[in-house]
Amino acid sequence: MSIKCRIIEGECSNCGACVGICPLEAISEAPYYIDPLICDGCLECIDGCGSSAIESYEYSSTPSPPFLIPFSLALKMYEDK
Ligand code: SF4
Ligand code: SF4
Repeated sequence: MSIKCRIIEGECSNCGACVGICPLEAISEAPYYIDPLICDGCLECIDGCGSSAIESYEYSSTPSPPFLIPFSLALKMYEDK
């Protein structure tokens, strides 16, 4: 687990300020996106965003477990066939 930043959907005003703030050039434009593989969680972009459109989160690079559905739902899907 490590801390990364991401842009909050619907909050970004597309001003472009964060692109110049990020020292690692982790933020791309149109649409604005922070690459978690480049971001090191310095948090500088959060302070630099005038729209409060960037937040930090805990990033895990390990893959998610396979998608599991509850047994009751699986049974219903089988019965509906
Ligand atoms: S600084 Fe904030 S509002 Fe401006 S482009 Fe970046 S995320 Fe969007
Ligand atoms: S937290 Fe730092 S490295 Fe990550 S996108 Fe923001 S400014 Fe760039």
